[in-house]
Amino acid sequence: MIEVKNVTKKYGKFVALDNISFKIEEGEIIGLLGPNGAGKSTTMNILTGYIDQTSGEVYVSGYDIQKKAKKAKKEIGYMPEGVPLYTDLTVKEFVTYMAELKKVNRKERKEKIQKIIKEIGLLDVQNKLIRNLSRGYKQRVSMAGALIGDPKILILDEPTVGLDPKQIAEVRDLIRKLGKKHTVILSSHILSEVSQICNKVIIINKGKIVAIDTPENLEKKVEGSNSIQVTVEDKEDKINKVKSKIKGLKEIKFVKENEDKTKEYIFEAEKDVDLRKKIFEQLSKQGITIFEMKKIDTTLEDAFMKLIKGGKK
Ligand code: ADP
Ligand code: MG
Repeated sequence: MIEVKNVTKKYGKFVALDNISFKIEEGEIIGLLGPNGAGKSTTMNILTGYIDQTSGEVYVSGYDIQKKAKKAKKEIGYMPEGVPLYTDLTVKEFVTYMAELKKVNRKERKEKIQKIIKEIGLLDVQNKLIRNLSRGYKQRVSMAGALIGDPKILILDEPTVGLDPKQIAEVRDLIRKLGKKHTVILSSHILSEVSQICNKVIIINKGKIVAIDTPENLEKKVEGSNSIQVTVEDKEDKINKVKSKIKGLKEIKFVKENEDKTKEYIFEAEKDVDLRKKIFEQLSKQGITIFEMKKIDTTLEDAFMKLIKGGKK
C-alpha cells in the first residue's frame, strides 16, 4: 500500500530524515512515534507529496509519489498538524470547499458532504463558523477535510494535540472507527496513544527509524530482561559477592541509600530466570537482610525511552 525506500530529506545541510525505509499494508493503523523534531511531519509531508524527498523513493498504491503525483495523491487524505486555517468558513462550507478541491463528482457532492459531516459527528455544528468551534470540533473539521474524496489512506499528523482528555478519547474512538475502512497513519509523541490505537508502531528519532513492531512486541523486545528491586541492609558491603553466584544475572545496579542506611539495588537478569528465589537464597547466605523485594514491570514507556537512548549514540 505504501512503500518508503531509503528516503533522505535534507533542509539545507540539516538531515531531517536519514535513509528511512518502511512498508505499510492495507488496513493497518500505523503510529509514527517520536519526540518533537524527530521527523514525523517531514515524513508525512513526503508521503502526501507535499514536499519532495532529497533522495529515495516513495510508492503509494504502486504510484511513485514524484512521478505519478496526481494518482498517488488521490489515494491519500491528509490532516496536517494544527487546526484548519479557513476559520471564516462554516463547517459545511469548508467541507464543500475541500470536496471541490478534491474534484468530488458534482452529482454526488452534496450527498458525500453530508455523509462525512454525519460520520465525523459534525451534524450539530455544520452551519457554525469554524473559528467559533472548540478545539476538539476544529480537529474533527480538519479530519472531515481529509476524508472527503474517499481516500484509501488517511494520514493524520498529531490528531490529538491540544485536546482535553474527553476530546482525546472521542478522537481516538473516531480513528479506530475510521481504521476499519481506511489504512491510517497517525503521528504522535505520546506513547500510550499509539499503543492504544495502533497495531504497528514506527519509532523515529532524530530522522532515523529505531524500531518497527507491534506495541506488544516492542515491549517484549526491549524488556528482554526482568528486573527486581531490592532494599537491603548490607553493613559489610557484600552485595557484589552475590553477582557471580546467580546464573543469568546481568547486573546489580545501585539505586540509592535510604535514611535508615538501607540500600536499594536493581537486579537485572535474563528473561527466563526466576530471580526472586535466587536473590533470596544468595543474600541470606551473605548475611544480608532483605527489607523489601519487588518486581519491576517494563512498560512501553520504558521501551520507548530505551530505544530512543539507543538511537542517540
Ligand atoms: P516532528 O514532526 O517529528 O516534530 P519535523 O518533521 O517537523 O519533526 O522536523 C524534523 C526536523 O527538521 C526538526 O529538527 C525541524 O526543526 C527540522 N525542520 C522541519 N521543517 C524544516 C524546514 N522547512 N526547514 C528547516 N528545518 C526544518
Ligand atoms: Mg510534527
